[in-house]
Amino acid sequence: MRICWFDDNRLGVVRKSLVHDVSSVLSSLSLIYPYPEGDPLIANLGRFRPAMESAADEVDGRPLSEVKLLSPVANPSKIIGTPVNYRKHVAEAHADPDIDMTRFAGSVIDQGLFLKATSSLVGPSQGVAVRFPDRRTDHECELGVIIGKTADGIDEKDALDYVAGYAIALDMTVRGSEDRSFRKSVESYAVLGPWLVTADEIADPDALDFELSVVGEVRQKSNTDQMILSVAKQVSWASSFYTLHPGDIIMTGTCEGVAPVKPGDTMTCTFEGIGEMEVPVRAAG
Ligand code: MN
Repeated sequence: MRICWFDDNRLGVVRKSLVHDVSSVLSSLSLIYPYPEGDPLIANLGRFRPAMESAADEVDGRPLSEVKLLSPVANPSKIIGTPVNYRKHVAEAHADPDIDMTRFAGSVIDQGLFLKATSSLVGPSQGVAVRFPDRRTDHECELGVIIGKTADGIDEKDALDYVAGYAIALDMTVRGSEDRSFRKSVESYAVLGPWLVTADEIADPDALDFELSVVGEVRQKSNTDQMILSVAKQVSWASSFYTLHPGDIIMTGTCEGVAPVKPGDTMTCTFEGIGEMEVPVRAAG
């Protein structure tokens, strides 16, 4: 099942090239303040799926090209990033003086995970607003993993049972010497889309081709089988430090080919088993 948020916070089910508005199912989502941790729709996805399928059967779809796609996760409690998780990206990062690695050393395990502010999250149609035009803002195309249920200290062998689904992620990054969480939390610097594909549709998240191009030029092209830490390992490791809540997002690391974008560019990202998204780049303000 492919799930999206679109236009003015409408909930959609995507079938082929159409979006079916299933927002009516949300009326049974009763929330009492203070809200529980995590994203309430993802937390209740198992219960909601049959109702979403029948609601989608009952309404005509609208062409995807006519809607504004938002992040397919509305309220994550955190966005986790995995650094230096592709060997060829590690090599390019150390070779490029603009990618300041002086603050960081060692393997992905040595460096640990990082967090991106949830306020940086947008969907593809909202695009990326370059905030510091005099500095380098790079694209990092990655597999986005969306947690489906509360996970605390789980084993690697069970980890994929805790995944609700997958989406394409862009971990946009201002290059420089400051802490990662600072440079990667700029408004609109976390892109997730074009929809969430539920985990049952992805047989092996560690074997997906992906590619990012900018105005027709292919810049990043790899397969998730090149990751140093598998998806299951990342979920298990993350859960050993923080409790993962439904809707939490893990951006699993990028491959080689990171490069700057500028206002006016459009990034086209494709991921096997997920789909394609176009993300425009503009100047902030
Ligand atoms: Mn990254």
